[in-house]
Amino acid sequence: MTVEIITIGDELLIGHTADTNAQWMARFLSDKGHRVQRITSLPDTPEAIFWELASAQKRSSALLVTGGLGPTRDDVTRRAIEQFFGAAWQMNDQVYRRLETYLAERGYGVSRLNREQAKTPEGARVFINQVGTAPGLGLEKDGCCYYFMPGVPAEMRDLMEKAVAGELNRPAGNEYYRYQIIVTQGLPEAHLAQKLKDYEKNLPAQLDLAYLPGSGLVRIRLSGRGKDEKQLIQLLDEKLAELKAVASPYIVHIGEESLEQLIGQKLAGMDRTLATAESCTGGSIAQRITSVPGSSRYFRGAAVTYSNGIKMRLLGVAEPTLHEHGAVSRQVVEEMARGALDLFQVDYAVAVSGIAGPTGDTPTKSVGTTWIAVASEKGVHARRFVFGKDRVLNIQKATNTALVLLKRLIWEEI
Ligand code: AMP
Ligand code: MG
Repeated sequence: MTVEIITIGDELLIGHTADTNAQWMARFLSDKGHRVQRITSLPDTPEAIFWELASAQKRSSALLVTGGLGPTRDDVTRRAIEQFFGAAWQMNDQVYRRLETYLAERGYGVSRLNREQAKTPEGARVFINQVGTAPGLGLEKDGCCYYFMPGVPAEMRDLMEKAVAGELNRPAGNEYYRYQIIVTQGLPEAHLAQKLKDYEKNLPAQLDLAYLPGSGLVRIRLSGRGKDEKQLIQLLDEKLAELKAVASPYIVHIGEESLEQLIGQKLAGMDRTLATAESCTGGSIAQRITSVPGSSRYFRGAAVTYSNGIKMRLLGVAEPTLHEHGAVSRQVVEEMARGALDLFQVDYAVAVSGIAGPTGDTPTKSVGTTWIAVASEKGVHARRFVFGKDRVLNIQKATNTALVLLKRLIWEEI
């Protein structure tokens, strides 16, 4: 089904709130095989909403709208609905009773503004909101279905999952949408695309290839649509195997799990342990590792060793090494990684030292230069990377790249 998402709220247009509703809905709908044609954000202005409802209807079979259904004056979607559908708002007993119970459970009575929320437009299908006060509404006009939901993300999600998704499945003939995410590292987007040029040219029209670069990794999405789910999955599998054959040296992982989740599962399964020794990343590798529930099983700790003195005292980096090669060097990260194996008594360690920027250039080392080492009892592997000039991005890239190297070491790929 072709659908559009409209999110309403001044807060979205002034950048105070990130439009997470549109993102969540787009993914939810795409996964169910619907084709999201457009996402539009609008201010809390009845005219803007009115005109968007009128024009989107010409393009799409269903419109999913969030925001502006609240009881306060700044929520004006209700006014636009009244004008657009020409429907009067009437007290809905079911919604009122539900509202009364909902508020009573929280120790409140029904205020005058709440009473307004119990009114629904004549002829609308009403979806009771289980987690808030404003109900969802379903209306139709000129062959287009309209669904209005509150902007509060948890309320929108609840209504989408329990009511609206079922409604959208009523028309027959939905397509399936299936995809695979291939995480790569080591080639910039354009170089990777060059490598995959012929592969891409020979892809059947039913499939699509997209490059999603970010923070030192390039994700590839191989996706397709089709009415025959089995055929679609088989075709995707075949083409994925071909892609692997072309890009294998750069493929880190196939799937949507994060690097830290993969590493965590593997270490827990092998009953092995890990620690980090971080300079320019300031603990962000450890932060990622510990964001995984259950990481205490395999993660021992992190040494954030920013100064040379602490690199020596905590990790046993030798003064002459620092003196001769500088803190951002192969020799120092190797000593840091070995030092972390010792200090934390772990099976694996990762160490990072780099110039995050924006200042700190030296005649021989530019901002973004970063050394990363991974170590186990079998030995140490260190590599140099030159990221960019942006501090935040450099830290993210160093963190991702360190996790990639760590994964390769644990999987015995280096
Ligand atoms: P509303 O239903 O317009 O009263 O919105 C209630 C609250 O939900 C707002 O204050 C925002 O914090 C949040 N919200 C509204 N729209 C969105 C959206 N598109 N994405 C994320 N949060 C939203
Ligand atoms: Mg609002």
